[in-house]
Amino acid sequence: MAKYSQLRERLARELPLVTLQEAPRASDGELALVHVPAYIASLAQGTISRAAMREIGFPWSDAMVERSRRSAGATVAAARLALQAGVAANLAGGTHHAYADKGGGFCVFNDAAVAARLMQAEWGRQQRRTLRVAIIDLDVHQGNGTAHIFQHDDSVFTLSLHGEKNFPFCKESSDLDVALPDGCGDEPYLQALEAALEELLHRFEPGLVIYLAGADPFEGDRLGRLKLSRDGLEARDRRVFDWCWQRRIPLALAMAGGYGVKIEETVQVQLTTYRVALDYWQRWQTLRA
Ligand SMILES: [Zn+2]
Repeated sequence: MAKYSQLRERLARELPLVTLQEAPRASDGELALVHVPAYIASLAQGTISRAAMREIGFPWSDAMVERSRRSAGATVAAARLALQAGVAANLAGGTHHAYADKGGGFCVFNDAAVAARLMQAEWGRQQRRTLRVAIIDLDVHQGNGTAHIFQHDDSVFTLSLHGEKNFPFCKESSDLDVALPDGCGDEPYLQALEAALEELLHRFEPGLVIYLAGADPFEGDRLGRLKLSRDGLEARDRRVFDWCWQRRIPLALAMAGGYGVKIEETVQVQLTTYRVALDYWQRWQTLRA
């Protein structure tokens, strides 16, 4: 958990152009766009079973539920702001192992899924057409919850690049899955990303991208099993941002995983992602000027 506060402190100190806002809390109604009411109620009231909490991996507390609501609310806020300003980010979130009716792997609510559905509802009212959302999930673990939530929904495209042999061991079907072998380094990773973005473009036209920029493909990660360098991860981020910028697709960023042997290194990788985001935000501002 230490990385969250470390990242926030370093952002405030080293990227003064970033405007930090308090994360709003996602309401029951917002969460219910994705999650079944009984699951939300069991968390809110603390009646969730021990087995279900064990699968999530945290002990239950009011504070844990509050934090999970705000983590989802921050991705919603980032998506809403990105649709106006081009780029915005959550300093947490990316909890892609959460299903409609259960959590798992340190994920309680699926923030990207809630944000996608809520933006579709808000956008549909304003524009009278469906907002098509692509979720580009580059966390090293498969976005199984997200894939399952949207498996019958053509308005949301789910792309997951992940370690083939890594958690979750029972994978779901995303719209596009790219499974990478253990030890995969910068070059084959970036080639796989390029091919995946190309296929996405052939199959889907997004009006919003939600990007899960997990830092766990990093070679210094305890759980990642891949071997991306710091430079490789920065190239990955730049490629995703550039791909969106070339097409003027708004991008909302969520943090997702990162479990460095040295947590400072994970924070450094994540800080670089937000630095890249800031570069592209500045480009968007020239459009608005
Ligand atoms: Zn992960």
